[in-house]
Order: sequence, then C-alpha cells, then structure tokens
Amino acid sequence: MSAEASNTWKASSFRVHNNVSTVLKRPSRHALLIESPVQASAWLAEKRRQQQSIGFVPTMGALHDGHLSLVAAAAECDIICASIFVNPLQFNNSEDLERYPRNPERDIELLTDSGCDMVFTGTLQSFFPGVADTGAVPLEDPGAYAQGLEGEYRPGHFAGVRTIVKRLFETVGDCRAYFGEKDFQQCLVIKDLAAALGYPHVIVCPTRREPHGLAMSSRNERLSPEQRRLAGSIYQALASARDAWQAGERSPEKLEEIMTGILDRPGIVIEYAALRDPLDWIRPALPNPLVQPPRALVAVMIGDVRLIDNLALG
Ligand code: AMP
Repeated sequence: MSAEASNTWKASSFRVHNNVSTVLKRPSRHALLIESPVQASAWLAEKRRQQQSIGFVPTMGALHDGHLSLVAAAAECDIICASIFVNPLQFNNSEDLERYPRNPERDIELLTDSGCDMVFTGTLQSFFPGVADTGAVPLEDPGAYAQGLEGEYRPGHFAGVRTIVKRLFETVGDCRAYFGEKDFQQCLVIKDLAAALGYPHVIVCPTRREPHGLAMSSRNERLSPEQRRLAGSIYQALASARDAWQAGERSPEKLEEIMTGILDRPGIVIEYAALRDPLDWIRPALPNPLVQPPRALVAVMIGDVRLIDNLALG
C-alpha cells in the first residue's frame, strides 16, 4: 500500500456531503467526520467565534482505552475534536507503516461513544498541498528533545512527528491539546513545538495499562498471546527499577542493570533501558549517585513489534 493510500479510507457507512459526513451512532449525539483539514479548520474557527473552548486529541487511529482516556480528559472543554491520520512522515521503516493497524470505522464509533464532537482526517496532500509524495514534504527541525533514545533508534521519527503535529495545530488553532505520557519523549518534543508556536496548551495524560501492567498500544494487537505475556516484562522492569529507587538505590548503572536483567530473555530484543533526568534531557549523563528521581524509559522489539514505555522512579 502506498503511503497516500494508507491515509485514506472509504467512509462507506457514513453520509458524505462535500467531504463532510455525519456518523449517526446515537440519535442524541453525533460526531461529525470531516475529511478535509481546510473544512475542519473552518468548522473549529466557527466554534471559537461562538466562544467555545476546544479540546484536541491527535491520534493515528486503531484506538484503545489509552486514546479514549485523552478524549475523557478533553471533556473539560466545550468541544472535543480528534484527528485520525497515520502519519507516513514519522515511520522510518516502510514495513512498520504498512503493518500499522487501521480500523477507521470502529475508531469513529468509539470516538462518538466517548463524546467526541468532531473527527477530522485528510490525505498527506491535503495536509501539505502541492506536495507530490512523502519524500517531498519539508520537514521541521525536531528540536533538542529529539536527541537520544527514540531519536537515536528511529532516525527522522521526531522530525516527522513535529512536522505533522505542527500542521495539525495550525489546522485546529488555539486549543487544549491532549497527549499521552506513554510517549514521554514525544511529549517533550511537542511541548517544545507548542512553546515555539505560542499555542496550544499541551496537557500530558497518564499512561493507561492492561491489568498486568503492559501499556496499551495500537501495536499490542499484533502480539501473539505468548508475545503479549513476554511484553509484560516491560512494566515489570520499570516497576522493579522504581521499587529499587524507593528502597534507596541511587546508582544509575545498577538501576539500568535491574531493568536489563528482567528484559534480557529469549524473544525480547532490548533497544534501550535507560534513565534520564526529565528536567535536563539534553544531558544524558546522570550524576552518580543520583540526586533527583529520574525517569526510566524502555524500548524493545518482540518479534517484529516495537514497544516503548516509561515510568517516573520518584
Ligand atoms: P498514537 O495513535 O499512537 O499516535 O497515539 C495518540 C495519542 O495517544 C498520543 O498522545 C499517545 O501518547 C496517546 N497514547 C497512546 N497510548 C496510550 C496509553 N496507553 N495511555 C495514554 N495515552 C496513550
């Protein structure tokens, strides 16, 4: 599937008029589906003129309770709007992009049931008019928080994230934008973007987990039952580092060893199991002994599924 095709779908079960379709789920409440960023922008501008506050939840679809917890947090606003766009710019691996789960009709039902007022999407070309393909999109400088960890293991990822999120923010305008702490480094990159733009107000929401601790992720769908069991080690590793910190361990090496000790098992390939000072991201070397409680961050491959998670140790 081409990158462009991957970002479009047939809204066959929705009424479509001039690119604006209405999902009829509950008679009392409709979520409007707008398949054009320009029209979404106009709809939101009208709400803003009516003095309505806007909560925005950007997603790549294949929604789960983690995404819906962001929608729930956005209920503090008058209008809740979400975007669904599988951003080809942030995939440094084309197979990962092709394999990314997509279920737009179910997503829109879930968003409707969660109280979302408007969902917008678009093709790559509608977000970047005049651009022929993914390679031609001018990329944003991802900024200092893109250094290390995800930035190192997924070259180009944060440039792609920052480029599309900037365009999404430009589409929505000033708002409260909700992001998940599960993508901790992404939150730093996005807050940096929002500071540079002067808007929106970024709200970081806690990670939603499965009962045994695995962070909810669209990618979990691709795990076999055995791989899902193995993936439970990610939270086990993070929680063990947190327990050790709370018991007084202050050596960064020892805390990292605790994590790798748990993750180092057949079926798991560790990309990183590292500590960072969230207030001083730019300087990866931590004092030894540690003074401030660090954040522990993990990325692993289980089969061909890449999973990340993180936890504050303090
Ligand atoms: P994605 O669709 O993966 O781009 O994620 C869209 C938003 O949902 C991002 O802000 C993610 O950080 C957030 N998110 C993903 N998984 C979770 C989770 N388990 N708990 C809370 N937020 C999440």
